[in-house]
Amino acid sequence: MIKFLDLYKINQNHKVELLQAFERVLDSGWYIMGNELKSFERNFASFTGTHHCIGVANGLDALMLIIRAYKELGLFKDGDEILVPSNTYIASILAISANNLVPVLVEPNIDTYNIDPEKLEQAITERTVAILPVHLYGQLCDMKSILEIANKHSLKVIEDCAQAHGAQDDYGIKAGNFGDAAGFSFYPGKNLGAMGDAGAITTNDHALADALRALLNYGSHVKYQNKFKGINSRLDELQAALLSVKLKHLDEETAKRQLVANRYLSEIINTKIVLPMVNTHESHVWHLFVVRVDDRDEFQSYLTAKGIQTVIHYPIPPHKQDAYKELNHLNFPISESIHSQVVSLPISPVMTSEEIDVVIAAVNQW
Ligand SMILES: *Cc1c(COP(=O)(O)O)cnc(C)c1O
Repeated sequence: MIKFLDLYKINQNHKVELLQAFERVLDSGWYIMGNELKSFERNFASFTGTHHCIGVANGLDALMLIIRAYKELGLFKDGDEILVPSNTYIASILAISANNLVPVLVEPNIDTYNIDPEKLEQAITERTVAILPVHLYGQLCDMKSILEIANKHSLKVIEDCAQAHGAQDDYGIKAGNFGDAAGFSFYPGKNLGAMGDAGAITTNDHALADALRALLNYGSHVKYQNKFKGINSRLDELQAALLSVKLKHLDEETAKRQLVANRYLSEIINTKIVLPMVNTHESHVWHLFVVRVDDRDEFQSYLTAKGIQTVIHYPIPPHKQDAYKELNHLNFPISESIHSQVVSLPISPVMTSEEIDVVIAAVNQW
């Protein structure tokens, strides 16, 4: 069977180094807020090109804490609006509503699946305080247009980079270094995955970084002195040490994902399949390879019968979820058609060329 994502195989590739990292943490006798975290934060800040990287417990907390920190700094308040794509993983939207701000959904571009800058401006009101673009499936949003709109209207830009570690533009600027702050997830299945939950925030804003460091640790900079009503969202030493190992191999793993994607793009010739549109090679790190088909259920069962695992990202749009009853009456036709047609084919740094052959042949025979 061809697995959608073979996490076992991905991590086995780094077993010796991961065990060394585990042993180092075990033997240090220090498990929270120590040198492994400091070192990973330095490594990841240098990877993204930002001044600050702040480790947190997961990707949702990363986004949620950025918005919370802007509230504490007096820049956002309850009821303010944040523009977010209508076709994202629910976490991007939860981060906004968890802070009592209002998510305003904006339709994506049907070819790139990323938020449509032309539709952004129409959605701005006097309550809008930020844009939260999501580099969905691993491809950078049109950051040039988004930043222009944000500058024109004095809005903050908070990037959701949970699927886009290392995606970069023509000038080498990486995801997480375009906006005012960015949230990353290191959930095991992400391109940079921990062995449990983990996340990080990147930013060049010193005041924001300072507030974040307190907020993630009970609101405290100095032990037993609490400046804010914070939370506990620390990234532990063990995950940080494992992530430092995985980070060293990220570029090479991204290149393998790009290789798989390029083969799919050039060799899948079935006209019933809509292939993803790519802007530039480096701007897409292929967290997911998502195609669109009309008879999705049939297509998926056909591939299952051929031993090929697929997943749907995502089956129900956020505005149709029970959790967002207040949005259920809205219509986002582009988003709804995307949700009804998308299927993700297997892609990973450990797929063999034989496995890629099998997927391509099966898709072309359908
Ligand atoms: C995975 C993901 C998140 C949340 O990350 P967690 O670490 O699972 O909390 C947020 N946004 C997007 C787009 C994601 O894919």
